[in-house]
Formats: sequence, C-alpha cells, structure tokens
Amino acid sequence: MIAARKLLAAMLLFAGVPVLAAATLSLAAAAPAGEVDLLIRGGQVIDGSGGPRMQADVAITGDRIVYVGRAPVKAKKTIDATGQVVTPGFIDMHSHSEFGLAFDGRGLSKVTQGITTELMGEHLSAGPVLGPAVDDPMMVTPPVKRTWTTLGGFFSYLEKKGIGPNVVSYVGAGQVRASVMGYEDRQPTPAEMDKIKGLIRQGMEEGAAGLSAGLYYLPNSFFNTAQMIELAKVAASYGGIYTVHMRPGPGLSGLEETIAIAKGAHIPVEILHVGGSIAGNPDFAPMIEKARAEGVDITANAYPYTIGWTYVRQLLPVWAQLGDAAAITARLKDPANRARIVKELQQNPGQYKDYHFSSANLKYDGYTMQQVADRTHISPEEAMVDFLVEQKAEGFHIGPPNPAREQAVAESYKYPWVDIGSDGIALPAGVHTSFGRPHPRSFGGHARILADVVRNRHVISLEEAVRKLSSQAANRLSLHDRGLIRAGLKADVVVFNPDTVKDTATYDHPDQYATGISWVLVNGKAVVADSKPTNATPGRVLRGPGYKPGTP
Ligand SMILES: [Zn+2]
Repeated sequence: MIAARKLLAAMLLFAGVPVLAAATLSLAAAAPAGEVDLLIRGGQVIDGSGGPRMQADVAITGDRIVYVGRAPVKAKKTIDATGQVVTPGFIDMHSHSEFGLAFDGRGLSKVTQGITTELMGEHLSAGPVLGPAVDDPMMVTPPVKRTWTTLGGFFSYLEKKGIGPNVVSYVGAGQVRASVMGYEDRQPTPAEMDKIKGLIRQGMEEGAAGLSAGLYYLPNSFFNTAQMIELAKVAASYGGIYTVHMRPGPGLSGLEETIAIAKGAHIPVEILHVGGSIAGNPDFAPMIEKARAEGVDITANAYPYTIGWTYVRQLLPVWAQLGDAAAITARLKDPANRARIVKELQQNPGQYKDYHFSSANLKYDGYTMQQVADRTHISPEEAMVDFLVEQKAEGFHIGPPNPAREQAVAESYKYPWVDIGSDGIALPAGVHTSFGRPHPRSFGGHARILADVVRNRHVISLEEAVRKLSSQAANRLSLHDRGLIRAGLKADVVVFNPDTVKDTATYDHPDQYATGISWVLVNGKAVVADSKPTNATPGRVLRGPGYKPGTP
C-alpha cells in the first residue's frame, strides 16, 4: 500500500499533475466497460452542487458511484427513476439521535426521509460518561443499556449493533463538564479545566467532528465565554468545528457570544436551530452576515417548524433548575419552594396551558398541562410541578405551534449559510419510548423542506434545497467523499418524486413516515427500496478530522 502510494507520487512528479488529473477525469467520465452493481436509470440528477438538474444515469459498484452520464451501462440491477429526481443522500445537521439509534439502529424515521447521515452529540454526547455524569438519564434510558464510557466506545457499540444511516458526532462541552464536575454552579478549578480539556482532546482523537455546547442548558451554561473560547481552541487544534445551542437573551447577546467564541478560538461555527431567531429578530441574520463578511466562518441550521421539544424542567425559573435531577425534585417537593415557583410561572397567566407533555408516563404523555390540571382541579402550572416531582425532574414538552410564524421561519432558508437540522431523534413508528411522544420533526423535518418550503411556498429552488441538504452539510463536516453525485464518491443516494414527496407527521400523530421517497442508498446499499424500508444497516461511523486510528 505504502509502496503503491510512493509510486503514484513519483508518477505525478514525473508526468506532471495536470496531465494525470485530466486523464483521471476522462477515465471517470467514461462509461464502465464491465457490469456495474446497480444502475439508476432515467432520472433527473440534482447533483448537490446547487447547479440545475440534468438527465443522467447513475452507476454504482460496491459503496461508490462509478459513473454519472447517459452512455449505455450494463448492470446487475436497474432502478427505473423515470419521472423522479436522483440526489445525494441528505445529512441531518442536528439530531440528538444517540438514544434513538442505540434503541433501534435502523433509523427509520430518518432514512424514510432520504437522510443518510445523522449528526449528533449536540450539548450532551454519548461519551465521555464518567463520574457524576454516569447517572445522566439521556443515555441510560431503558431499554438501552449503556455499555460504554467514551465516545469511541459508543461508536464501536453502534458499529457492532448495525445502523441504517451513517453517523457523525460532536463531543459535548456539557457532557464533559458533567463528567468532571457534575451539575454544580461554580467555576472549575485549573485542575478541573485541564481535565475537561483533556477529555475534549480524547473525544476529538476518538473521532468527534468538533465541540458542541448547550449554553442554553445546565450544567453547560455555567461556562463563561472565556472558558468556552479555551475549550473551542482544543477542538480547533484538531480541525474540528464548534456548534451551539446559544445562551438565551437578552437581545442578541447569545449571538454576540458565539461570534466572540468563533473569533477567539479561530473555529468554524454551526449555530443550532436559528429559524425562530431569524423569524423573530430582524437584526439576527444581518449580524451573522456582517461577521461572515469579516471572515468569521459561521453557518447555521434550522428546522421547518415554529415550535420545539425540550425538557419540562427548562420551563422552571432558573434558580429552580439548579443541581441534578434529585436536587431539583427535592426542591419542588418543598411546599414553600413549590408556592414560589407556581407564582413565578403564573406571571404570564395561561402561558403553559396548551403545552403538551412528552413522557415515559402514559398518564401524561400527549396531554396538555391544562388537560392534566383539569383532572384534579389544579392550575396548569401546578400540574407542571406535580409532573416534575412524579417524574423525578425528567420529561419533555412541546409548546403550541404558531401558524402565523410559519412563512417567516420558512424564509430563513433563503440565506445560503442556513442548512437543515431537524433536532429530531431517529425512531421507528409505533413505539413508546422513555422520551414519550416525539416531535413531528423526527419523522418529517427533511421531507417538509421539500414539500412545504420548496413546493408549497417557493422559498428556494429544489436544487438549492438539495445543496443545503447534501454538499453544504458535507463540507461543513469535512466529509469530502460525500454530498455530491459524482463518480468516485460514496454512494449515498436518494430517488424521489419532487411533486409528491411529503411529510405526514403531525403534532397529533407524529410517528408517521414521509411519503414519496422511493429509494435511499447508504454506502451503495438500499435502506429504502420501492418506497419501503429494507431494515438494512449499511451505515458507518464517519470519524472527524482529529481521529487517531487505533483509538478505541
Ligand atoms: Zn438540539
């Protein structure tokens, strides 16, 4: 192998690079002489570059695209894509899918939407899981039994289990902090800071794509900006990127901090779920455009819904969220605290009545806080506190959607630096997990881009949507052999009808698969064939730029 490489280098020097490069190109452009494994014939290829679609066939052998063109090709198997488009596989830039894929590796809610790569580890990552973080429920939720303590160990677990889509993960600053110093609101000592940096280094060498931060969440939010710059520098030194759930207000302070971290650590940044921020604040996108014009490498992702899904305890006053789950639960049980919390929650009367619970507990799952309150004639705020006590501070909520804001959220995709992250975990339909009822974005986020943002609202062209879903995301993650329909690249490919592709998941019935996507290939293998999941698991762990082979 080494000898062959040396020989090739010598040839390049001898013959001159341009001549050889041209020869390689013409070779790639010629139709393969022998029989290929698979030919996708008769479709319109949207290659992921943003350029216009073209009539072409796509030939695949093994896990690679070997030819894109119109010459006749002999194939063992042919897919008729007449009337459909053929695109690179989609990348979900924000998924939190570690539980979902550990629970069911097929990733059905995602592959049925054409998603071939899941990015996860945003804020909490699957590793490291050490010290006080060992009890974090995010990864030890039954029926998943955690058998790993490092991110590398989690990667090995997934590879052994088998996964439908490829995966990429960040190492989470919140996860690392919890592993070293738990959930306490205090400054790390210099020794603790060294430990934290060491664990980030380890995560990068195990193959993390970069550092994630949940500055919106405890305990990550206890890091200040200067500390985050220090930590981001560690990821930057490995060629990683930084991604962030920004610190909440006032004003644009969260974005200002993000730009300061990007500048201070010289690190590319991907901001999570900016749809609401762009729709809600006319100064938000211009501030990003200004930073980009100054050379700061900032991109962002958005999901096409007006409301999210997150922890119920996140609704509590900040003082009441401090500590781990046991500390929060103990606080809520205290009558004086309870009265104070309910009073503070009622400052905007009725604010929470239409929020739905998502919970392992079927007594609550899918019901609004008002519906739960009505059972025992209490207020929705008291129902929220009772829920948290009963569930030991665990459980999630979905706020009421805001139809008036849908157009503005959809228009956030007009910015070329906005790509697509669903923020929804990969799940099969028809199961009740410890996370309770999912948000429809788990089953419909990417299909909704094609159906609603492109076809119904005409916010961006289909070519531009595909570019965001594929090459832009692949470039962000340094996945240089994916994201385009090109000979020589990995065969992550989607075939769908752009006139019928549709999300069917709703808030009331979220676990319904998208329709209109007929074929999805991951590394050349079908995970969706003739519009049905195949249950295949050809996905791989795509390790990041700092990966040191031989690291667990
Ligand atoms: Zn998220």
